[in-house]
Amino acid sequence: MDPRVSQKPEKATEEDKKKRRHKQRTKRTITRAVTHIRLIEANPGKLAALDQMMAVYLPICQRYVILFCTAETPPDKYGDPVFESELSNRLHRVAMQQAAGIAKSWRTNRENAYQAYLEDVADYVQAKAKAEAEDRMSAFKRTEPTWNEWHVPVLRVPVIQANANVVVVEQSKDSTFDYWLRVSTLDKGTPLRVPVKLASYHKQVLKERTINTSTTLHKRNGVWWLTLSCDEDVPLQTEPSAPVVGVDVGIAHFITTSTNKEYGSFHGKMARQHKRDREKRRRKAKLRACLEKKGASADKLPSTSSASGQRLSRHVKQEINRAVNELITDHPDARLIYEDLNVASMRFKARSMNAYLYASNLAHIPEQLAWAAGQRGMAAHTVWAAYSSQECPRCHFVDRANRPNQKTFKCVVCGYEDHADHKAAVTLAGRWGDRELAACRDKREVKALLLKRHDVWKQQQQQRIECADPPVQLSFWDPPEAFWDPSQVLNSSRMRELHRVPVVHPADESAVG
Ligand SMILES: [Zn+2]
Repeated sequence: MDPRVSQKPEKATEEDKKKRRHKQRTKRTITRAVTHIRLIEANPGKLAALDQMMAVYLPICQRYVILFCTAETPPDKYGDPVFESELSNRLHRVAMQQAAGIAKSWRTNRENAYQAYLEDVADYVQAKAKAEAEDRMSAFKRTEPTWNEWHVPVLRVPVIQANANVVVVEQSKDSTFDYWLRVSTLDKGTPLRVPVKLASYHKQVLKERTINTSTTLHKRNGVWWLTLSCDEDVPLQTEPSAPVVGVDVGIAHFITTSTNKEYGSFHGKMARQHKRDREKRRRKAKLRACLEKKGASADKLPSTSSASGQRLSRHVKQEINRAVNELITDHPDARLIYEDLNVASMRFKARSMNAYLYASNLAHIPEQLAWAAGQRGMAAHTVWAAYSSQECPRCHFVDRANRPNQKTFKCVVCGYEDHADHKAAVTLAGRWGDRELAACRDKREVKALLLKRHDVWKQQQQQRIECADPPVQLSFWDPPEAFWDPSQVLNSSRMRELHRVPVVHPADESAVG
């Protein structure tokens, strides 16, 4: 077997694990990417060889993406190759690894979205049954959730995520170039050598650092680009006693903290820009469909990609970065707790909200948080986000009904009320160090645990009321209106029974049972 084909790594030993844990306690490793290195110094003949390789590489990678996305079992990047190819074994393995990476994140996102859909269905069925039982179907307006199967990713941009088995970065010996890339091609045994010249800002980042062995090559607008990266260890600055600050990610404000501060927003100018852009794209798509019907050739059709859309997306990212920086400036000594945000499963009632969600690049927020905190040696941890917007911080009751609208949290059991985003941030902060919760394997287990805690709360309430039971002097005791039924002749035991009923919000009857 070729020793330079990637092999499955050996399992980490106890010793390795111990070392890793120690490092996690004292340091943060951040990876800096050095992007936009143009490979323009190479002669056209060399780059043509790269094009030829990519012409074989990309279709193979795509076939594996389809295979890995649709297979029953999770992708195995070290499995036996299943497709015939002109590629060398090493390139073939790299294609499989790249495809497995794409398929893995696609499968996770799809699965999360599907679980969210199943929950929606269960919630809908329950609500419908309740409406039927109470004979108010005429007022039941909810539509049954539907599932649209996801498309398997299509690789459009020629890109190879390479390792040292197929692309090697060599320090240049003369001063004309900074590095040479040695790239495997279809012509086995004669690798391609491509010169690399760095800009001064590239050199600044790489100064005195070791370049990682993984590299990325991609082609856009007829130009080949190289991405390099290097790791940096940053000593952890956060004290063990640092205040814990929960961070909720949302639409109204990009970030809301448990310290009751808000940063960044998609509303205002950006939302207007987004709306204009959406209308423009819709018009273009209509025109396209119309021209296609008339048989116009493909190259005459208006493009569906939108420059203003890309501009907006960049703008949103800048705003997010600014919001994250402000958050960190305001909480320099804190330990940040945020949600492992799963955009696919975030649901919004309004349809237009989904477009907002997409445009606002919410997923960029946790990435930026992790990066900005890591760079400063700040502790930042993710916790289970499931039901963080629905759980009551006082009684742990979990239900959609606790969110009468996007802005408000109001527990239907104990009446606890707060601004929804602030409450979610407080809940996230509280989940840090919660081992029982961290041990849950899926959302269902999270919900079961929270409802178990709610039961404990209910029992405690009951005991508290019992303890507070005054000596039996029934004649002085005035039962609350809600439990007073004058038609019943109450004997003392019945009275006491009533007395023990925990005080619940009147609207909650169904939720408790
Ligand atoms: Zn409550």
